[in-house]
Amino acid sequence: MTRDDILAELGLTPRWRLRVEARAAQPAGQVAGTELTDRMARISRLAWSALAADIDACTACGLCRTRNKSVPGVGDAAAEWLFVGEAPGAEEDTRGEPFVGQAGRLLDNMLAALGLARDRNVFIANVLKCRPPNNRTPEPLEAEACRPYLERQIELISPKLIVALGRSAASLLLGSDATIASLRGRVHRYRGRPLIVTYHPAYLLRNLTDKSKAWEDLLLARSTVAQSAVI
Ligand code: URA
Repeated sequence: MTRDDILAELGLTPRWRLRVEARAAQPAGQVAGTELTDRMARISRLAWSALAADIDACTACGLCRTRNKSVPGVGDAAAEWLFVGEAPGAEEDTRGEPFVGQAGRLLDNMLAALGLARDRNVFIANVLKCRPPNNRTPEPLEAEACRPYLERQIELISPKLIVALGRSAASLLLGSDATIASLRGRVHRYRGRPLIVTYHPAYLLRNLTDKSKAWEDLLLARSTVAQSAVI
């Protein structure tokens, strides 16, 4: 008879165990699962003031080994507009601020055309908070590891509208692998919040003819913010 059997016979179950002891008894996958849930629960309770430092200390994926600076995001913590890009590039990694390179200048012009600015009623974040080497596309596991931070940012900011810039943001937030061309031009929902998909500014720099479509998307975004309601 095992100790657990004896305790069961004596009516002394469930037996509470130290977390370390419980972990040792779990198969490897479940240990990772428990840690993942703990981490997600912890991040989902973080205060705004604690988020940037937490991101900076994050080691949940391999990008922490190659980044220079983490890039939590920039802007107004009570913004009505949240723009979500893909991941920091070289300049962002050096400065710790999103969209500061050439694509960032285009994003600033797009904001200005709407009467917005990165520190005025706007928050800018990325799917990944750390730069992938050589600016490669985020791996699904990296995006999943970083997801709790974006989710917490969305919850705390509580924007009236999310604008997904490009495919990485659209596929993470909508759970869809569809093309931007097929997702743009209508209002989606992310957890009840209006979400509009448009082209990533870096793509627009290479495909000038699609700039007019991006402008149409921004006009749709503007009218959506004007009438928005979280449902
Ligand atoms: N591209 C992005 O998606 N994000 C940045 O911060 C910079 C370039």
